[in-house]
Amino acid sequence: MKLHHRFNSVDGNKTKSQSVKFPESLFRMFAVTLLATGILLATSCQMDKASNKDSASETNKSTMTDYITQTQESQSALSPDDAIAMLKEGNERFVNQKMVNRDLIKQVKETGSGQYPFAAVVSCIDSRIPTEIVFDQGVGDIFNARIAGNFVNEDILGSLEFACKVAGSKAIVVMGHTSCGAVKGAADQVKMGNLTGLLQKIEPAIEAVSEGVTDKSSKNSEFVQKIADKNVEMTVNNITAKSEVLKDMVEAGELKIIGAMYDVNTGKVTFTE
Ligand SMILES: [Zn+2]
Repeated sequence: MKLHHRFNSVDGNKTKSQSVKFPESLFRMFAVTLLATGILLATSCQMDKASNKDSASETNKSTMTDYITQTQESQSALSPDDAIAMLKEGNERFVNQKMVNRDLIKQVKETGSGQYPFAAVVSCIDSRIPTEIVFDQGVGDIFNARIAGNFVNEDILGSLEFACKVAGSKAIVVMGHTSCGAVKGAADQVKMGNLTGLLQKIEPAIEAVSEGVTDKSSKNSEFVQKIADKNVEMTVNNITAKSEVLKDMVEAGELKIIGAMYDVNTGKVTFTE
């Protein structure tokens, strides 16, 4: 705009332009050319800024496209420690907004004829913990058993036996989480329909951490977290105590079972080892 204004005033001073014998039409051409150059420069500058911004946000979101879809070969090449390390690395990527950019439909096609997941996760149904997302995994990478309060019963144990003994997974992670509604409900001894029986499964963890606690309600957030931690620890132990199949696999070094705690405020998973 400034450019335009300047040339208008020069244009208006006909005496001056005539005295240097510079035709008005040339002035106009010169003005238009300069204006166009200015617009081009400004546009190109803005485009540069926009593309810099795009690449910066891409860096924040995802730069990695390097991933594999699990096959029998890739799964059998992994140790239980490798499987746990992959989940740890996946959560690091999630927390740091460096998630792998996967072609999920391609993975659907690649896994259509068979699955070779490297781990199984037992976690709560809580909507804030979408398992594949928080571990940055794709299609065919992990088994999920989700149940309010993340404990095991016969059916979950049967599912885990299938996941590990039949389908070849190398690790089981029992993952509780902070601010768990099931744990709070159990602490408050909520009674409602089928939930009553479910919440009773968390009773052993409550009993184990109740000694010396005066406020045993869900208002005591420290108590709630102690129950959640104990519940994870007891569930890890219950898996080998109640499943001969999985216990044998652990003893043979074919399987590792560990606990974990997900923080609903940060997205960070803290593993027990
Ligand atoms: Zn929960």
